[in-house]
Amino acid sequence: MTSRIPLAETVTRPIYMFEEGRGDMRDLLGGKGAGLAAMTHLGLPVPPGFTITTEVCRQVQSLGGEFPDGLEAALWRAMASLEARLGKRFGDPHSPLLVSVRSGAKFSMPGMMDTILNLGLDDTTVEGLAAGTENPRFAWDAYRRFVAMFSNVVLDVKLHHFEQVLARFKQQAGVSADHELDLATLREVVAAYRKLVLDRTGTPFPADPREQLKLAIAAVFKSWNNPRAVAYRNHHGLPHDLGTAVNIQSMVFGNMGEDSGTGVAFTRNPSTGEPELYGEYLLNAQGEDVVAGLRTPRPLATLAETLPEVHAQFKAIATRLEQQVRDVQDLEFTIERGKLYMLQTRSAKRTTQAAVRIAVDMAREGLITREEAILRVDPRKLDDLLHPRVDPVAHMDRLAKGLPASPGAATGAIVFDADEAEKRGRGGEAVLLVRIETCPDDIHGMIQARGVLTCRGGMTSHAAVVARGMGKPCVAGCDALEIDLELGTLVVDGRTFRAGDILSIDGGSGEVFAGAVPLIAPELTEDFRTLMDWADSIRRLKVRTNSDTPRDSAKGRELGAEGIGLCRTEHMFMQAERLPVMQRMILAASKQERLAALAELLPFQREDFLGIFRAMEGLPVTIRLLDPPLHEFLPNLVELATEVAVLKATRPDDPSRASKEALLRKVQILHESNPMMGLRGCRLGLMYPEINEMQVRAIMEAACQLTRAGVVVKPEIMIPLVGHVNELARTREHLEAVAREVMERTDTTVPYLFGTMIEVPRAALTADQIAREAWFFSFGTNDLTQMTFGFSRDDAEGKFLMMYADEQILPANPFETLDRDGVVKLMKMAVDAGRATRPGLKLGICGEHGGDPTSVAIAHELGLDYVSCSPYRVPIARLAAAQAAISTPRP
Ligand code: PEP
Ligand code: MG
Repeated sequence: MTSRIPLAETVTRPIYMFEEGRGDMRDLLGGKGAGLAAMTHLGLPVPPGFTITTEVCRQVQSLGGEFPDGLEAALWRAMASLEARLGKRFGDPHSPLLVSVRSGAKFSMPGMMDTILNLGLDDTTVEGLAAGTENPRFAWDAYRRFVAMFSNVVLDVKLHHFEQVLARFKQQAGVSADHELDLATLREVVAAYRKLVLDRTGTPFPADPREQLKLAIAAVFKSWNNPRAVAYRNHHGLPHDLGTAVNIQSMVFGNMGEDSGTGVAFTRNPSTGEPELYGEYLLNAQGEDVVAGLRTPRPLATLAETLPEVHAQFKAIATRLEQQVRDVQDLEFTIERGKLYMLQTRSAKRTTQAAVRIAVDMAREGLITREEAILRVDPRKLDDLLHPRVDPVAHMDRLAKGLPASPGAATGAIVFDADEAEKRGRGGEAVLLVRIETCPDDIHGMIQARGVLTCRGGMTSHAAVVARGMGKPCVAGCDALEIDLELGTLVVDGRTFRAGDILSIDGGSGEVFAGAVPLIAPELTEDFRTLMDWADSIRRLKVRTNSDTPRDSAKGRELGAEGIGLCRTEHMFMQAERLPVMQRMILAASKQERLAALAELLPFQREDFLGIFRAMEGLPVTIRLLDPPLHEFLPNLVELATEVAVLKATRPDDPSRASKEALLRKVQILHESNPMMGLRGCRLGLMYPEINEMQVRAIMEAACQLTRAGVVVKPEIMIPLVGHVNELARTREHLEAVAREVMERTDTTVPYLFGTMIEVPRAALTADQIAREAWFFSFGTNDLTQMTFGFSRDDAEGKFLMMYADEQILPANPFETLDRDGVVKLMKMAVDAGRATRPGLKLGICGEHGGDPTSVAIAHELGLDYVSCSPYRVPIARLAAAQAAISTPRP
């Protein structure tokens, strides 16, 4: 397995003993390795060990899994150093050194990679361990676990085969728990395990510990690219080329009796953020037992009764680590015969709710600055806080209560299998992944499910940790549920549910309900408001909302919007009582008829604007005049043609036939082969000026009426899809006359602005000319992206863009995140040229990018005045704008 290629020149040092590394070397040593190094430096009780770097992983991968020449020599030197320190030898039949082999990447990927414990055991060393510990049962149990774990990770023999063998022995022995098996049976189990390996792989279980160690290291490197790790990275947007480090650490045992144990803890509650040590442990258990979710562990606080000194020592260490790292730590520990050992410290994954609370608390405690607090919360995740939750006063069919593992409510059809959850979830169905326990292999199903429900496992089980990381509701360890996978049933309290039945969960309370449940809007916490206040005091970009109704406007304002950046007026014509009038306007045979329909629409429009202006009193409101092609308001051409054909054939005398045929003719006339580039935007207003005229009249009448009533109104009239300055000049001349006419008629002055969207590349290229006619530019980045790439926004995402992202043809979906090299270049030109013509030109973004944190940062860099996004994304944009202000120098 060792190639002739030497260690790459970039690999300055392939291995670091824990005492040689540092806490800030996460790139090289991974999070776990860096944490172990940091704890060692602090003099904490860490079992000695070393880390093989991520650089080595990357080289091993480039060599197709082979070790570079020189790695083995370094490995045996490091092992010799461990042996010398511990006075034990690897493979020694009398006093064998045993090690764990664990992965550890820069970003923690809980349960995504594999771990091997008790490595170094074989038929002779097991006797040495038995003699040394005076506990042969323990030694053989460790050996049994090692054979199964090693075979699973390295030899790809699935764990359930071993579980079946174990179950057979337990049945024969008439016992139900693993620890009830006696020594003689354990020896037989090991023999049976090894036979299983031989049968399934065709080769005997590797006997030599040195060989085992090399194979284990190679397998951990390889596991970086296993499908669940790849899926996890894809989901979290983590890079695939970092590689993982491998940590090799001398073993300590939590399964040496009732004064031994193992556990995990968080320095603050990772679900709520409450500032209290929070954890779980199992006595007489080994590492993976806690995280695997097979046994439900006990709360850490009870350790104060069972092993008070250990509890006190652990508490002191936890506090010290948190103070040192200045972040919440996720700790792993083992107690071996009453002595505490630290196995891990790393920054903890947390829910968004916890992230906000922890950031605010830590800033208040003086542990971090306000700027750091702002940088600690991922703006994308703020969405989670705005999730609805189950209405606590509603009458509901409550079935059971488990652990509140990840907050939020979810309703969906029961699915017992991760593959199926993935398939149906992708198909758009709301599914709930219901498992006895989840394992890392379920990740793809968890991604697609609305929520996760498990019968076993604690707050730190895989399901809980992974769901929290995803902001997905999860109830774990709900042991009142009995799942029978053979029958495909879930029985709870005597009631039977089948796959496909609807259940709901509340991951904040741990409750499980039959059927769908009523949800209520979330309340924003004081901590959230505080963090947002801090963000607002730092950001330079203003944040507006996109809204077409008084309700959305009020919501946006409540969430911090400082005005409306885009009111899409076409949505106002889609409502039930208005659509027929709109259709009449479009189908009008004469201008006279069209004006009559428009006169009917005007009061509706005015009413809308009155509501919106009131909701946004004192703040700017940008109203875009009608934009989409007219046929969007008419029936579908194909459906209508079919209907007419059927009518002709079956009921030729039907009285509705003539009007249907007339409608069809008009729809055919209006039909365009490329409507996105057809008669829409300002072109529509130039063809039918009376439409824009009606809209401006409605805007100004509403504005004048409110102004007279003492309400401060700041309308901004916006013309879409301009490509040539003359389009704007002509439109403006006409519409400003209308605005003046209304103001004069009502004897009121309203300080309105007139501006345009920059959505067509030509507009960006000629922004100097266009700025002569506009007081403001709002970048319609949806259309600007569409037209810059030549990608149809309605088709690209469904057809080829996902493939582009998977194949990394594009670094990101340009409809989500602004394309720096192309679209942003055009924007920059427009900003510079526009401001050169009109220094006070107001600039903003109103496309979907306005709520994307990366794009918000770009808006900051470009020196825009504001971004605008949908109401629920306003907090995301506020926080992202503050982060941009902290991280990027002022433009
Ligand atoms: C845009 O194109 O970015 C925009 C905001 O307009 P719409 O999405 O309505 O075309
Ligand atoms: Mg547009």
